[in-house]
Amino acid sequence: MSAPTAIDGRTRVAGIVGWPVEHSLSPAMHNAAFRALSLNWRYLAFPVPPDRVEEAIRGLAAAGVAGINVTIPHKTAVIHACSSVSEAVRAIGAANTLVPDGAGGYRADNTDAAGFIRSLDEAAPMDLEGRSALLIGGGGAARAVAFALRERGVHIVASNRTPERAAELGDDTVPFGSAALDRATATADLVVNATSLGLAGDLPPPELPLAGLAGGQVVADLVYRAGGTPWLAAAAERGARPVDGLGMLLHQGAAAFAQWTGQEPPIEVMRAALGATRAASE
Ligand code: NAP
Repeated sequence: MSAPTAIDGRTRVAGIVGWPVEHSLSPAMHNAAFRALSLNWRYLAFPVPPDRVEEAIRGLAAAGVAGINVTIPHKTAVIHACSSVSEAVRAIGAANTLVPDGAGGYRADNTDAAGFIRSLDEAAPMDLEGRSALLIGGGGAARAVAFALRERGVHIVASNRTPERAAELGDDTVPFGSAALDRATATADLVVNATSLGLAGDLPPPELPLAGLAGGQVVADLVYRAGGTPWLAAAAERGARPVDGLGMLLHQGAAAFAQWTGQEPPIEVMRAALGATRAASE
C-alpha cells in the first residue's frame, strides 16, 4: 500500500458529519483511496450534535472543507445549510454528500440511491424494468432506494412500522410484521431491508420476513455489520441471492469521492479497506 502524502499547507480535508460517528467505516475507505492515488487529502469524522448541524456545515464550508458526507441523524437537516440541491435530494428529501459549490457553500447530493443500484447491479445483475420489489422501511434510506428503483421501472410494495411512511413510498403497501408480508415476499423479485432492524443480535429480527423466501429472490440488507447480518444469512440459506449493505456503502462513497476529487475512484482499494475495517471490528 502506498505511503500517505505528508500533511502540509496544501492538504485538503473531507469528512463525515454524524451523531454519533466514531464507528463510521468511511474514514478508512476514503483515506485508503487518497493514499492509493497519492492525493494530498485527509478524511475525518466530525461528531456534530443535532442542535449544531447547520452551524457546523456553514463553518466547514467557511474553512474550505472540500467534501462532506452526512450520516444519521443529519441527512435532512443539512439541506437547510446548502446553497442548492440535486434532483435526487429534491425527490428523496435527504442528502448524504455535500460538494463545494464554487461560491463558498455546498451543493447537496444523494449518492445513496446510485450506490444502492450499483451494489445491486454488481452483486445480483438483472433487468429491473417491470420487476417487483418489497421495500421494508420508511426512513431516509428507504426513500433513496424507492427513488432509485422507481427510476429503473420497478413496481414497489412498501411496508413500514409507521404505515403512513410506507404509503408515501410504495405503489402498494402491506402491513408490517404480518402474514401478508410473508406472502408479499413470496411474489417479489427483490426484497430490501431498509430499516435499522438487525444492527444487533445473533438471530434474524422476527419482524423481517423469511418464510416466503424460497423462490430464489434477490435479498438486499442495507444494514452492514461485522460478519454480515443474521437475516441476510438466513435468507441466503433459503436460496435467496444476498446483497450485503457494504456494497451500497462502497458505491455511495465512490460516487462522492468522484465528485470531490474529479478522479476515478479506486473501487477495489476502497472495497478492501471497508472489508478490512469491518473485519477488524468483529
Ligand atoms: P431512519 O431514517 O432513522 O429510518 C429508520 C427505519 O427503521 C424506519 O423505517 C423505522 O421505522 C425503522 N425502524 C427503526 N427501529 C425499528 C424497530 N424497532 N422496529 C421496526 N422498524 C424500526 O434511518 P435510515 O437513514 O433510513 O437508515 C436505515 C438503516 O439503513 C440504518 O441501519 C442505516 O445504517 C442503513 N443504511 C445503510 C446504508 C449503506 O450504505 N449500506 C446507507 C444508508 C442507510 P419507523 O418509520 O416506524 O420509525
